[in-house]
Amino acid sequence: MAKDKILITGGTGYIGSHTVVELFNAGYEPIIIDNLSNSNIGVLDGIKAITGHTVIYENIDCKDYNSLERFLEKHPEIVAIAHFAASKSVSESVENPLLYYRNNIVSLLNLLQLMPKFNIKNIVFSSSCTVYGQPDKLPVTEESPIKPATSPYGSTKQMCETILQDYAFANKDINVILLRYFNPIGAHPSGEIGELPNGVPNNLLPYITQTAAGIRKELSVFGNDYNTPDGSCIRDYINVVDLAKAHVVALNRVIEGNNKKNIEIFNLGTGSGLSVLEIVTAFEKATGVKLPYKIVGRRPGDIEKVWADTSYANKELGWKATETLEDTLRSAWNWQQKLVEKNLATTNG
Ligand code: UDP
Repeated sequence: MAKDKILITGGTGYIGSHTVVELFNAGYEPIIIDNLSNSNIGVLDGIKAITGHTVIYENIDCKDYNSLERFLEKHPEIVAIAHFAASKSVSESVENPLLYYRNNIVSLLNLLQLMPKFNIKNIVFSSSCTVYGQPDKLPVTEESPIKPATSPYGSTKQMCETILQDYAFANKDINVILLRYFNPIGAHPSGEIGELPNGVPNNLLPYITQTAAGIRKELSVFGNDYNTPDGSCIRDYINVVDLAKAHVVALNRVIEGNNKKNIEIFNLGTGSGLSVLEIVTAFEKATGVKLPYKIVGRRPGDIEKVWADTSYANKELGWKATETLEDTLRSAWNWQQKLVEKNLATTNG
């Protein structure tokens, strides 16, 4: 009998690719669709180098209903979908909101519309702690209020959550898990896959590793006048392999029918907050590399501080982030150095 397949949309992306590896490790057969809009086909070689598996892949844009339908016709063994394919830059979303609404909303609608036709009952969705905005109380639990979004990107995550809530309410035989990621960082310890942003990185860790590698002159720390102990913003930085493993547990939960409700929400973080300046110091300590930085003004739209209460995910999923910050920062640096060796260190910018 053919093995159960799990469809990974956006499977050549940063979190998708790490999840593909962990699914192979857990004995599943992940298959990938991706339009390579923010990733590279070489990721498939990285997955093969780590797992020994040649993953099934097709270049498909989830906005293209007909292509998606044809793909699903070819793979009747799909039992679940992990939907990563989405645009994720806050600043780009402010400049080009329609791109974000179209990419992120239409893709999800297409998948949901096709699931019953192909008898696919399970979907795990990549949401974000951005839905909490600046929480009144920390840490945030899954019950914390959803705050008005501060960017079109944030809006799309909130809208997708609402769409999935309504869909799950109307389709009691469908199981949905919303995973709210905090700040994923690091790379696979092998250095075969990791984060490869297009152009100048927006996110902190790729900017740090590119600065350490001499590609960027210095890191700009966005603000030191926040109401935090050292004045810089606080986030909950979670290792990407830990995050990927949470997806395996979540997929397993719905496939095995161990979910308590047909829509469940989990925070995926470490439970601790770290400031930008603490990350800079920890990076220097973990890698022995000096990181030039300067303090600049606040970045518009930044949240002052947020970190997760992970007790619900710990208890219900039996999952916990286990990688140390030191190992995580080293893995990011190891990946950056491999990119430099391969001449792939930055795509442009
Ligand atoms: N940050 C920074 N310099 C950079 C990029 C990010 O100081 O070049 C800060 C940013 O202001 C925030 C934290 O690092 O406080 C994490 O930012 P990131 O964009 O990685 O994730 P976000 O939490 O905004 O989604």
